[in-house]
Amino acid sequence: MKSCPHCTAMLKVTGIGGKDRLACELCEFVHWDNPKPVTATLVTMDSELVLVKRKFEPFVDDWCLPGGFIEASEDPEESAAREVFEETGLEVRIEKLLGASAPGHGINVIILFYQGTPVGGRLEAGDDASAVGTFKPGSLPQNIAFPLHRKMISQFFQSVKSEA
Ligand SMILES: [Zn+2]
Repeated sequence: MKSCPHCTAMLKVTGIGGKDRLACELCEFVHWDNPKPVTATLVTMDSELVLVKRKFEPFVDDWCLPGGFIEASEDPEESAAREVFEETGLEVRIEKLLGASAPGHGINVIILFYQGTPVGGRLEAGDDASAVGTFKPGSLPQNIAFPLHRKMISQFFQSVKSEA
């Protein structure tokens, strides 16, 4: 971003709130560069975790939790359920928020991790997925795309095990 989206004047690096930010020379606009929220949902069927195989970059052919960007004005839980349906064909009830984390390393998102229970639909890969599968805790694929997905999946199975 080089020019102001409001008045098209040049943006310049300005110290605001203790950080260098791009701010407009003429109007009040500041490019805060806040993170974008995305969802990722853990859905189990018969104690097996539903994962989707990625059809597009980044990490083509790796597996990950179903999820994606929240649309404008969309409720996060509705977004989570929509993404699960689009990618896996499953209609889910969102049970709870398991956690929220930032991946860091310049990836400017916040991942909201939800737990969902299937209530309908049929498991089949959607447009963004080349495959969809269910996996037992001990037989997860080696190539799970995102470190935070791996971490949340292992925490989830730990908590299921300690409840059993
Ligand atoms: Zn401006």
